[in-house]
Amino acid sequence: MKKALIVIDYTYDFVADDGRLTCGAPGQAIEERIAALTEEFVQAGEFVVMAVDGHEESDPYHPESKLFPPHNIYGTPGRDLYGKLDDVYQANQDNIYYMSKTRYSAFAGTDLEIRLRERGIHEVHLVGVCTDICVLHTAVDAYNRGFAITVHADAVQSFNQDGHAWALAHFKGSLGATIIGQ
Ligand code: ZN
Repeated sequence: MKKALIVIDYTYDFVADDGRLTCGAPGQAIEERIAALTEEFVQAGEFVVMAVDGHEESDPYHPESKLFPPHNIYGTPGRDLYGKLDDVYQANQDNIYYMSKTRYSAFAGTDLEIRLRERGIHEVHLVGVCTDICVLHTAVDAYNRGFAITVHADAVQSFNQDGHAWALAHFKGSLGATIIGQ
């Protein structure tokens, strides 16, 4: 079955020590695995997506403005892909679909679903951060759209370890996801 790898929000602001909304060390610990999986899917000729949060500096209408400090602002280094993932992306740009998203879910207000459908893809593999926020919302939307879901437990992380563990259980118990890499 054709499948896609969706790499969610693995950027400087969400991962680096001085990122604006960082997962810190747990986020950095999955750097190698995310880069390796991206390389693996590209080499296998699968559809690889970088789904990257993008915000305006001050947007009073955006719901996250009240919830989180400014992060992943368009045109800032905070929005760059983090570490080795950026190296893999730069080397394989022609075979990776980079897309911006403005909400937690990579499906919200984007053309992700149509890109998957036109390729006949029914299975999505999710990696990135945060397990219990953007990965979770993307997984819920994938579930509601009828995609089979695989979550790589060794390639998702959060700044909230309780939330991380809860989300992994939810993927499996409520979304019927396959959890690998545990
Ligand atoms: Zn955001």
